[in-house]
Amino acid sequence: MSAATGFEVRPELVARCYELARQSYDEGGLPIGSVLARGAEVIGEGHNQRVQQGDPIAHGEMDCLRNAGRQASYAGMTLYTSLSPCMMCAGTIVQFGIRHVVIAENANFGGNEDFLRERGVHVDIVDDPACTALMARFIAEQPALWHEDIAVD
Ligand SMILES: [Zn+2]
Repeated sequence: MSAATGFEVRPELVARCYELARQSYDEGGLPIGSVLARGAEVIGEGHNQRVQQGDPIAHGEMDCLRNAGRQASYAGMTLYTSLSPCMMCAGTIVQFGIRHVVIAENANFGGNEDFLRERGVHVDIVDDPACTALMARFIAEQPALWHEDIAVD
């Protein structure tokens, strides 16, 4: 909770991102989970489906937003994600007018936080040890899959 800004961070939704990431990991996919919420109310959730669905666009945040379905407005909503968003997902956050993003960790991947902030998105980074450890484990175990997902050479 940030009293100064009015943007709240709900630990149980960070934990839910981890659970979704773990579910994807157990399916053989990339362990990245995401939740769209209004306060404590979950609007949608999802996880990376790149491996499971063979869909290169199905990052955790994109799967979450797809599952949430059409929204007349994202005002007052927060997007939680287990890993700092890539540029595709960061662009979608800006495009949809989502004003608050909670990032469980950016130790394994990051760099688009300032892109979001410069476009008026409030970014909270919580340094969640469970999400950090799971992502690090996956990158060590499946470097080729990780590099494919994040499109680095
Ligand atoms: Zn992404």
